[in-house]
Amino acid sequence: MVGHGALRFLQNYPGGAGRLLISITADDRMHHHSHPTLPAGMPGPSRPRLPGYRRTPKLNGISEHPICHIRIRRLTGSASNPAMRFTLCFFLMLQACWLPAQIIDVHLHGYTDQDYWGGRPHPSGAESPPTAGEHMRQTIALMDQHDIEYAVVSGSPEATAQYVAADPRFIPGYMDDGSLIPVSEFEQLIKEGRIKVFGEVSGVYRGATLNDSIYQPYLALCEEYGIPVAYHTGGGPPMTPYRCCPEFRISLGDPFLIEDVLVRYPRLQLSLMHGGEVFFEHAVRMMTMYLHLYVDLGVLLWAAPPVQDYAVRLLKLAKQHGVLDRVMFGSDQMVWPGGITKSVEFLNSLDFLTEEEKRMILYDNAKRFLKLE
Ligand SMILES: [Zn+2]
Repeated sequence: MVGHGALRFLQNYPGGAGRLLISITADDRMHHHSHPTLPAGMPGPSRPRLPGYRRTPKLNGISEHPICHIRIRRLTGSASNPAMRFTLCFFLMLQACWLPAQIIDVHLHGYTDQDYWGGRPHPSGAESPPTAGEHMRQTIALMDQHDIEYAVVSGSPEATAQYVAADPRFIPGYMDDGSLIPVSEFEQLIKEGRIKVFGEVSGVYRGATLNDSIYQPYLALCEEYGIPVAYHTGGGPPMTPYRCCPEFRISLGDPFLIEDVLVRYPRLQLSLMHGGEVFFEHAVRMMTMYLHLYVDLGVLLWAAPPVQDYAVRLLKLAKQHGVLDRVMFGSDQMVWPGGITKSVEFLNSLDFLTEEEKRMILYDNAKRFLKLE
């Protein structure tokens, strides 16, 4: 977590600052994974948040890196000598520039043994674990590897409960498969903190859009409780109507079809998953009309080169229209955990995005959308 240059410097610094830094880093990591709140003494929340969310540190203009900032606070709190305090701050701020960006993945999927459909490799070469349990273990391991701070995992309430129990970084999203749980149960699960995102809303596989009457009572509750909605847009895998879903149509994935939803629920937080895919121009046009509308990149980042081309064109158009601050990273790993790595690497390989823009997409935008700040 901490670059070798600063570590060496601190280890050589009189007073054993190196040991201090190492202990602080370990403490941060524990806090990062298991503590729902910051240590005593940190300022209180500035606005309401969903139950169970960890408050992230405020910046005070010292450093924009949240973990580095904690280090600076604790180090400066422990160092009595002002000169030493200044030097530590300076070096840690320098380090913040070199630390790999943290990530929030707004689009993961989770399964139970009953609904897991993995076991076969993806055409792109990504392996699929044989069981739901192994899928979860590999997903968590890759979240560690890529420094993913939070991930929205969508699935049945049973599936997401297992993921949240296994790792508190998971934010439970309710994925309907076109047949919804009763509205009363939906509201109860929101109150219990077991649904924090409504999505992936995937009614398109049953021939419905978010504008369909079946979704309206759920959307009204999401608006009332401040639950973000993540809605599948774009197409699906080849031969979908012949395989699982005779009512599926690519055309139903057009974001323009749900414009009424935005008008009907002006306070609803909505994200278009897969950024509209083939309808990416419609997605961007919707974002320039509705200034609170977000998109995630989802499977566009890794499934196949023609699909990745949608991601590139979407990102270039979003940049041209000045709406990159509402584009979010999501890996949409489905039953192939390796999709996480492929997504991160593909996004980081895009030369037309600045480091700052990548950081917005990988982290900042999702933090705002999910009200994690
Ligand atoms: Zn998905």
